[in-house]
Formats: sequence, structure tokens, C-alpha cells
Amino acid sequence: MNSEWDCVIVGGGAAGLSAGLVLGRARRRTLLLDVAGQSNRVAEGIGGLLGNDLRPPAEFYAAGRQELAAYGDVELREVEALGGERRGEGFALELGDGSAVETRTVLLATGMDYRYPEIPGARDRWGRSVFHCPFCHGWEVRGRDLAVLGSDEMAVHRALLLRSWSDSVTLLSDGREVEGGLAGRLAAAGVEVDGRAVASLEGPGSALASVVFEDGSERALGGLLVGVTLHRRSDLPDRLGATRAPATPLVADAVEVDAMGNAGVPGLFAAGDLVPQVPSVPAAIASGHFAAAQVVNSLTT
Ligand SMILES: Cc1cc2nc3c(=O)[nH]c(=O)nc-3n(C[C@H](O)[C@H](O)[C@H](O)COP(=O)(O)OP(=O)(O)OC[C@H]3O[C@@H](n4cnc5c(N)ncnc54)[C@H](O)[C@@H]3O)c2cc1C
Repeated sequence: MNSEWDCVIVGGGAAGLSAGLVLGRARRRTLLLDVAGQSNRVAEGIGGLLGNDLRPPAEFYAAGRQELAAYGDVELREVEALGGERRGEGFALELGDGSAVETRTVLLATGMDYRYPEIPGARDRWGRSVFHCPFCHGWEVRGRDLAVLGSDEMAVHRALLLRSWSDSVTLLSDGREVEGGLAGRLAAAGVEVDGRAVASLEGPGSALASVVFEDGSERALGGLLVGVTLHRRSDLPDRLGATRAPATPLVADAVEVDAMGNAGVPGLFAAGDLVPQVPSVPAAIASGHFAAAQVVNSLTT
């Protein structure tokens, strides 16, 4: 197959940009497709990224794109990869602008859709005072009255974890019972359980001041940790033949990769949140870097 591209990277978040840098420096003809919907764009800063701690996400991604611009073999297009198929020993992709491209390899770095509980008021505060990752955003709300939403074992685990950031942590069980053994663990750690049914979150702008309950009462709160489930953003991985990883409470439908970053079809690679790994910017950078190196290896051999 006489492909236009050595590799098409689908997605220009931390994983895709990192992969693009490796491929550009390896002088591989690389097309990076991105529609700039990185999952942490709503956050004020990236927490815990060495060298870029608390840097605003949009600024970080712009800097990544700028670094890639120095490598003439990498082209960035702000267009969506809508579909694709295996063609010969490579792949053909259909793009949102009506064009099509052929490539020897594909590196999927589309990220994931983070689904969180749809409480009124959560969307305006998402990634700020309502968050899923204490390692990313716990520092900003340290020492405040914090809460975790939920009543199952995962929620209890989150509440115990959050004690590292505040002495005042409450489990909002939203009208549900917390099983005896779990309630005992919370009590031992000084975590109160508030069983009132949650109605909404209130506060100025993206800040959180209180949770309002269905009976009209309220409780002062400075931060709320919620559980999320990550879902694919499209069926593109399936259409290209990628293997699905088993579902977990955190990730519904990740792409399984082998030790070489391969996603089940020769020439198909995946990185970042799309694969089973800790969902974080540094982890995405590392896996994008690794997968791109494996793309180069596969093209060489
Ligand atoms: C609210 C929030 C805050 C977070 N805060 C932090 C934090 O402070 N620190 C931290 O380490 N981690 C944080 N994370 C986690 C972190 O954002 C992710 O782990 C990381 O962004 C994953 O990188 P990625 O490249 O895999 O995916 P993404 O960053 O989501 O990038 C994927 C890119 O691919 C594009 N794309 C998808 N499909 C297509 C397609 N078909 N065609 C073209 N483009 C496509 C998307 O639009 C997007 O631009 C946060 C997550 C959330 C949800």
C-alpha cells in the first residue's frame, strides 16, 4: 500500500501530542487530527504535572501544538476522524471535512468521556469545586468542608482518601443506607454520613458553598468529590478492529493494548485515557510517547 501517511494520530490531547512529538522527531510522515475537546479543558489548571503544575489546560495544549510545528513531517488538522476501516496492510480514514486519508498505521488517542452524576449545579463546577480526582484538584480545596457523593464501597474509599486533604469530610449517601462494615470504617476515620437526599449544589460561579437537600435543608461545602465512569467518544476503535478491555467500575469500554501498545490489529495502536491506565495527563504523555515509539518500531520491521 502506497500510503500518504506513516501514521495518523486521532486526538491531540496529552497522549496524541506526545506521540506526535516522538513521530516528528523520528522523521515519520504524521497526520494529527484533533477537535480540541480535551477532557480537562474546563479545569483552571493541570494539577500534578511536573514542570507545568497548575498550567491552564488550553495554554498547555497550545504549547504542545507549537512544539510540533517545529517538525516538518507532522501536519495538524482540526478535523474529526469520523470513520475508518482496515485497507490492505494499512487503514483508510474518513474525515469530517469530507476528505479521506490512507495511512500505514493509526494511533488512537481520542481520550474518553467522563460521566459524572447529573446533580443540578454540578456541570457549572465540574473540574473545579466538583471533581473526580483528589490528586488533580484536592490541593485547591484543602482544609475546607469536603464531601463525597455515594454510598457504595468505592464512595467510602474516596471519603477515606479525601481525609488526606481535610479533617472535615462527609459522605453524602443521598438517601441510601451505608452498609454496616463500611459505616464503621468511616466512623473510625472521623467521616460523618449525611443520608439526606441531594437536590442541588449552590455557590457563586464555579465555587461551591453548599449542598441543598430535597427537604429544603442545606449543608455548607467547599468541595465535592464524585465518582466517574469513562466512556468512548465514538465507535472508531471498533470500526478499526481494536480489542475491547473488560469493563470496570471506572472505565466502561477501554481499548485493550498489549505490552507494545498494539490494539489487536497490526498497525493499530492506542494510548492515553482510551487504554486501561490511571487517567491523568502525565500518564497520557507517557503512554503516547511509548505507543509512538512502538509505531516507529513497527514501521521499521
Ligand atoms: C475535569 C477534569 C479535570 C482533570 N484534571 C486533571 C489534572 O488536573 N491533572 C491530571 O493529571 N489529569 C487531569 N484530568 C485527567 C486528564 O485530563 C486526562 O487523563 C487526559 O486529558 C487524557 O489525555 P488524552 O490525550 O488521552 O485525552 P484528551 O485530553 O481527552 O484528548 C483527546 C483529544 O482527542 C480529540 N478527539 C477525540 N475523538 C476525535 C476524533 N474522532 N477526531 C479528532 N479528534 C478527536 C478530543 O477532542 C481531544 O482533543 C482531568 C480530567 C477531567 C475530566
